[in-house]
Amino acid sequence: MAKLYFYYSAMNAGKSTVLLQSAHNYQERGMRVLLLTASIDDRFETGHIASRIGISAEACLFDNSTDLVALIQNEINQQTLSCILIDEAQFLTKEQVYALSEIVDKQHIPVLAFGIRTDFQGELFEGSQALLAWSDKLIELKTVCHCGSKATMVIRLNEQGIPVKEGAQVEIGGNDRYLSVCRKHFKEAVRD
Ligand SMILES: [Zn+2]
Repeated sequence: MAKLYFYYSAMNAGKSTVLLQSAHNYQERGMRVLLLTASIDDRFETGHIASRIGISAEACLFDNSTDLVALIQNEINQQTLSCILIDEAQFLTKEQVYALSEIVDKQHIPVLAFGIRTDFQGELFEGSQALLAWSDKLIELKTVCHCGSKATMVIRLNEQGIPVKEGAQVEIGGNDRYLSVCRKHFKEAVRD
């Protein structure tokens, strides 16, 4: 039975690497996959999922107005799909996550969504909240804080390397950097 999977983590836990490896595993068995990524992420050329270890693949783009059921149905009409893999899944809307669950339940195609769990203020992203609630399987991808503990939180650093405490959840075109830390060091960083 097809399932909805949510692979979640802090930043830099190798999500894109796991996604691209999973896609490769399907493709080498001659199975067709659909890759999607958020158009909000402009770190790389648009329409690409790139891993920090140097591998990349082309992907379709979504934003919060994309009709995922229509997009995926259009792909299925061209050729059978064996799997759908989504990067930057934290940027999905709640409605889009519901639509993905419909693809799983009615089209019987597995959907693997990869995303950041919480933002720089420790709040769930909309897509991650919905995926935590609706997925069949939750898989944590682990990374470590500078202290060696598991990093579960993300802090945003401005150009001077100072932790940012206020601001939009998604900074578009900014020069801020993100750092994955444990909860203890997250609290120390954002404390007044
Ligand atoms: Zn720590």
